Amino acid sequence: MAIKITDACINCGACEPECPNTAIYEGGMPWNMQEGTSVQSQFELMSGSTVNPSENLDPISNEFYYISPDKCTECKGFHDEPQCAAVCPVDCCVPNEKIIETEAELLEKQKKLHS
Ligand code: SF4
Repeated sequence: MAIKITDACINCGACEPECPNTAIYEGGMPWNMQEGTSVQSQFELMSGSTVNPSENLDPISNEFYYISPDKCTECKGFHDEPQCAAVCPVDCCVPNEKIIETEAELLEKQKKLHS
């Protein structure tokens, strides 16, 4: 499953530079598929909609740092543990129980993001 940031976030920003997929954005800032990945062509999101990689998409939170589930691989393919959770001073980077993915699926996603 992807990692999510809860409303316990204190907006310190410690997690953002640690993400190998650039899946973490500041609250209120748009996100896109291109930043921090090698995605070059139209990309199908988990929701089923298709986007241009450089298309800026609406923030998932306006108040706290947030993680795009489409870009989070739980750090699979890069690290042994989620790097955002490892550095968060208030332990607010937790598994997103609404997005269940197997290790194989996460590794496949990592390949799609960095082919
Ligand atoms: Fe990024 Fe890893 Fe945190 Fe997912 S678990 S948001 S890939 S740092």
